[in-house]
Parts: sequence; structure tokens; C-alpha cells
Amino acid sequence: MMLITRFSDHSLRMQIALVFGTLVVTLSVLLSLGFGELLKHRIQRDAGSSLQVVAENAGKLLSLGLMQRSLEAEVMASAEVVWSKGLDSAEAQHMLARSQAMQPTNLWIGVADAQGVVRNATRGLLVGQSVAQRPWFQHGLEGVHVGDVHPAKLLESLLPPTATGEPHRFVDFAAPIRIGPTTVGVLGIHGSWQWTREVLESLTPASSDESALELFIFDREGQLIFAPGGQTEVMRSAGQRLPEDISVNNNRDGDRTQTTVVRWRDGKRYLTAATQLQPRNAASDLGWRIVARQPVELAFAEADNTVQLALVIGLTAALLASALAWLAARRLSVDLYALADAASAVEAGLPGSDIPTMQSSREVQQLSQSLGRMTHRLLAAREAMEEKVRLRTLELEAANRALDLQARTDALTGLLNRRGFETQMAFAVALARRSSRPLSLITVDVDHFKRVNDTYGHEAGDEVLRRLARTLESRLRGSDVVARLGGEEFVALLPDTDLDGAQSIAQALVTAMAEQQNPVVGTITVSAGVATMRSADDNGAAMLRRGDAALYEAKGQGRNRVCVEA
Ligand code: GH3
Ligand code: MG
Ligand code: MG
Repeated sequence: MMLITRFSDHSLRMQIALVFGTLVVTLSVLLSLGFGELLKHRIQRDAGSSLQVVAENAGKLLSLGLMQRSLEAEVMASAEVVWSKGLDSAEAQHMLARSQAMQPTNLWIGVADAQGVVRNATRGLLVGQSVAQRPWFQHGLEGVHVGDVHPAKLLESLLPPTATGEPHRFVDFAAPIRIGPTTVGVLGIHGSWQWTREVLESLTPASSDESALELFIFDREGQLIFAPGGQTEVMRSAGQRLPEDISVNNNRDGDRTQTTVVRWRDGKRYLTAATQLQPRNAASDLGWRIVARQPVELAFAEADNTVQLALVIGLTAALLASALAWLAARRLSVDLYALADAASAVEAGLPGSDIPTMQSSREVQQLSQSLGRMTHRLLAAREAMEEKVRLRTLELEAANRALDLQARTDALTGLLNRRGFETQMAFAVALARRSSRPLSLITVDVDHFKRVNDTYGHEAGDEVLRRLARTLESRLRGSDVVARLGGEEFVALLPDTDLDGAQSIAQALVTAMAEQQNPVVGTITVSAGVATMRSADDNGAAMLRRGDAALYEAKGQGRNRVCVEA
């Protein structure tokens, strides 16, 4: 859960790259390891097989050599014509020398008589000495014999030293010399063990220095009898015997895959193959085991390289794939980010902001187009709504203004009504108070107006009121405020005008009205009262009351006149 939460905190780009990268890396590592192991197995099996083949070929060559030598001994021993001239005859001498010339690794070829005294030999070595106790002589009396490898005894001091400096070792071959039914002696050959080295070296490939392939021979008892590089004695004294845990292949057409990895006496591990010497005849059945070995790290070097190569290729492919995934994810998310930005801009109402159409994939294209259409519709709706609200606001403002005007205006005359007048008066009083300038007012009332209504009708009365309003307006200054306070009573507010000034204006007004002739109702007179602002403490209501009182005084004095406040 925790992991999922943390994963979802990453950007889409990161999530896709992570999932893809992990997938590809895991897959390629598994695949390359799998293929690598498979290859390694194949290569190891092949290395084992070739090792086995080398061991088997060595075995075949050795057994062929052994058989040839024993055959040589047999062929020479059966040369009755020669032997009948005497074991030490010149012909016999000549035959032995020729045979050695043909096979120089036969270090000694000689003939002993039936008592075991050497009668003839190459280079005359050992002639006259007794070999009666030597196994080759004793076995040779009985029949063809091949003796296992052994150190030189009598000949060691007589022969030149070996190439490797090791003591001379021989493989003996012997055959009885018969003239008729009588065994007259034994022919013996001491084959140099060097011969084995030559045979085995001829088998180890030229590249054996590199591949470190080595061939060994162990005898029937498991004793080491041949090691390459003159190491036989060294390895023997180190206790090296036929490794116990190897399976010796003694089947001629046997399975060649019985190669095992064995730890040898030197502590190192070797890929090891063993095969038993296959005798060509009963005499040469020495029970040798030919063993081929190769250090494991070299034998499997190619396999390890292959696994490593596979892994490197796999990881490279994985890295490439991850990079591609990241790029693809970025391409996809770049469009999504751009969409989100554009949507934010539209939301913030930035001018000219719009949802662009994205092309990175069909889904994103669809999404951006739908978003774009939706945004256009929403924007259009919002604009229409805003336009409507603006219109409604304007209408409302106009209505409010009209209402306000209506509330302050008298419908019949178009003058201010009492409410409108009060506002203007408060303003004028405050101004007069601050500027210490005079402010006066005149109250006007139509005389006997009830009679006008009664005589000429209400319509005529209204017309009289309208005319009076026009007269007041025309006779007063633009800065003066004229209002109808109710019924047929009017008021005029005169800024910058003192009591005297107001009185004369009132008188002129009353006179002008009395001189007017109304076509319907004839002459109409008015009475007026004048009041002025007395001090800074004075107020509009008090002034109006005093104006009314003066007007009442004018009515009382007989109308059609002006009275000034007391
Ligand atoms: P006085 O000289 O003492 O002022 O007498 P008067 O008749 O003018 O005064 P009164 O207050 O008795 O009568 C006023 C009349 O004005 C009563 C009413 O019918 C009339 N009147 C008030 N308002 C209007 C109006 O808007 N139009 C008309 N036609 N008559 C109105
Ligand atoms: Mg009146
Ligand atoms: Mg009146």
C-alpha cells in the first residue's frame, strides 16, 4: 500500500519509465542468463568431449605402438634362418642394428641364450652379462611379452642421459627364439619411455600451451607412470595417483561425455577425461589409464566469456529499451503537461488562452479535442452570461436612477419634491455654514386656490400650478433650488442671498404673478414669506418654519404680498 502510494507520487513519465525499465531489465537479464547458461553447458560438454577424444586417441596410438614393438620382437625372434647361424652371428648382429636404426627409441635390442647370458646386443652393450633374473627374460622364455614401464637397471650407466634429465625408463618387449621345437634364447627390446612422450606430444594440439591440455598415464595400480614436461618424478613424490573420483572410460565406443571436474594433488581443479588402454593383443594388455586434463578456468573460459557477453548485450539492450521507454513516456506526458498548463491558463482567464490539439497519440488527441470543444462552449456560455449580466446591471442602474429621480421629483411640475428639497437644503446649509455666506428662502402659496379648483376644475388647477412652477424657475438663478413642498405651496432656496435680497426677489415674484393673465382662470395671486439663515447654529427645518410663519402673516395681512420673518 505504502509502495503504491509512493509510486503514484511520481510523474506519469517516471511511472512508465520505471515499469518499462524494470520489466525490460528483468527480462533481458533472465534471457541472457538463460541463454548464457545454455551456451555454457554446450561449450562445457564440447570441451569435455574433445578432451575425451584426445585421451582416447592417445590410448589408441599407445596400444598400436606397443603392439608394433611386440610384433617387431616376435618377427625378429622368428627369423630361424638367422638364429640357426648362431645367436652371436654377424647376421644376427646386423639384423639387430638395422631394427634399431629404424626405431631409434628402441635403446637396446639384444639376445640372451637359454641360460640368460646376453650373447648379442646393439652396440655390444651388456654382452656376456646375465639377465636371467630380469622379468622380460623369464617371461620371454614362455612367449611374447610386453613388460610394464620400469627404471633401467643394468643399462642406466651405459646409456647417454635422457633429454629431460629423468632417469632412463623402459618398456620391455620380449619373444622366445626357437629353432625347431627348442627354445634357444630370448630376444629382448628395451623401448625408451621417451617414445611415450613423443606419442603423447604428437597428440596434444599445437595450441596446447594456450589451452594447457596435458596427458598423463597411470598404470594398472593407479601409479603415475608418465607426466608431461619431465614432471613424472615430481608429481609421484607429491603423491599424485590416479584421481579416484573419475570414471575411466573402458568401452571402445563408449560414451564420451564422462568428463568430470576433479581436484588434483596440486589443489587445482581440472576438467579431466580418462580412458583405458585398449590392448591389441594379450601380451600388451598393461591396464594403463590415459588421462587428459585441462584447468577448469581455461576449459570453461569461452563459456564464461559467452555468458558475460550475453549479459552485456542483454543489459545494453535493456538500457536502450529503458531510454526509449523514457523518451516515449516523455513524449506522452509532455502533451499531458501542456494540456494541464493550457487548462490552468483557461481557468485563470488569461487572454488568448486556448486548449491546443495534441498529436502524440490518438487518445491524447481525442482528449485535447474534447477539452478544447468543452472549453469553447464553456467560454461562450460564460461570455453570454457576462453580457446578459452587464445589460441587466445597466437596466437596473437606469431603473434605480429613475426611481431615485422619481422619489425626489414632483410628477406634476417637474420640480424637486419635499424629499429632494431636504437633501439640497442640508447641502446648502452646510456650505453656507462653512463659507459664512448668507442663505435665504422664500415660501410661496397660491391665494384662494380652492376656488380655482372649485370653479374651473382640477385640470385647470393643475395648469395653474405648472405655470407657477415655470414662473418660479424663470425668475430665479440657476444656482437657486426650487421645489414643490405639497399642495399649492412652493419654496425657493437662495444661496449667497441675504434677507433684503430675498425680500426683493419675493416681491418681484409676487408682482409678476399678479400681472399675469391666465387664459382660463384669469388673474392668480400668490403670497410669500421670507426667512434667512441667522447663525451657524441655524438649520433648514427652523428656517422653513419661520418662512411658513411669514407666509401665514402675509395671508393674514390680506394676501398677494410678501412678509419677512419676525
Ligand atoms: P388660502 O388663500 O388661505 O391659501 O386659501 P386656499 O383655498 O388656497 O387654501 P386651502 O388650503 O383651503 O386650499 C387648498 C386647496 O388646494 C385644496 C385642494 O383642493 C387644492 N389642491 C391641493 N393640491 C392640489 C393639486 O395638486 N391640484 C389641484 N388642482 N388642486 C390642489
Ligand atoms: Mg392657498
Ligand atoms: Mg395652501
